[in-house]
Amino acid sequence: MAAGVLPEPGTQFGPCLIVCRHIDCAQTRAMAESYCTICIKRIGYDKRFYNGDQPNTWDHAVCLEDKIEAENNRHIEKVERRKDPRDKAPSIFDRE
Ligand SMILES: [Zn+2]
Ligand SMILES: [Zn+2]
Repeated sequence: MAAGVLPEPGTQFGPCLIVCRHIDCAQTRAMAESYCTICIKRIGYDKRFYNGDQPNTWDHAVCLEDKIEAENNRHIEKVERRKDPRDKAPSIFDRE
């Protein structure tokens, strides 16, 4: 699945620099003003983003990729710990 990117205002495919009544400009501006559901910052221009969990929500690609990676790492950690729990001395960091 490809990520979307909003072209910057004033560029060939970007919205007009001035306030206008073009439908596609308005849509692009509205999306750029939307907040990423992960970092709660504006989606902005020239950044890769994906659809969010809910309709009409968006997540930065980097935020989503970080989130997925963090979840995968947590999973790998658990699997490794389960593989041989006696291998490691118990420590305070093992408490869940
Ligand atoms: Zn326009
Ligand atoms: Zn984000």
